[in-house]
Amino acid sequence: MKSRSAKSGVTRRQAFASAGTAAAAVVAAATSAPRAGAAEPAGRAAALREIARRVQQTPFVDTHEHLVEEASRTHWKPSGRLPCNDWALLFTHYLDSDLKVAGMSARDYSRFVAPDTSSADKWRLLEPHWPAVKHTGYGRAVRLAIERLYGIADLNASTIPRLAEAYAERVKPGFYEKILRDEAGLESCQVNSLEAVFMETAHPGC
Ligand SMILES: [Zn+2]
Repeated sequence: MKSRSAKSGVTRRQAFASAGTAAAAVVAAATSAPRAGAAEPAGRAAALREIARRVQQTPFVDTHEHLVEEASRTHWKPSGRLPCNDWALLFTHYLDSDLKVAGMSARDYSRFVAPDTSSADKWRLLEPHWPAVKHTGYGRAVRLAIERLYGIADLNASTIPRLAEAYAERVKPGFYEKILRDEAGLESCQVNSLEAVFMETAHPGC
């Protein structure tokens, strides 16, 4: 993968250098901050926004992943790691641990990730446990994905059909590159494949 962000055209070196300048501005603002109760310096909020913006556009290297090959998704067959080919897959590893701790029975979890359970039934199985897991680290990651990738801010009975549709629309050749590179800003990704001990990817550019 190239060292230049496809989205911004900024090299990593430039991005880090610029982020350093912005960070210095915040440190300067913080050290000269007035005592509690006084108005916040006008430049501080702007500097924080600038840091957030530059962090967002900085490409990064993901050093540990267990991504399956894209073809295993686009030519899906049921397997232990990919029990279904619908939105419930988002709630498997690692959020499945939180769901089980929150009280979802092993039987209900099996039905939830089964390929032949309807979308509405999957939501009925998830709904009682969702409030207990949506704020955990794993839950927040799933919510962020649902919001950023599928445009759904809140998961409920009325948004599930949209999620089901949006999820299915994405699973087509090229979606790894779009999500990993264009949307997540990944420069490269070190995959510890669980499909085979030594495995060459068909997508070395992602
Ligand atoms: Zn791991």
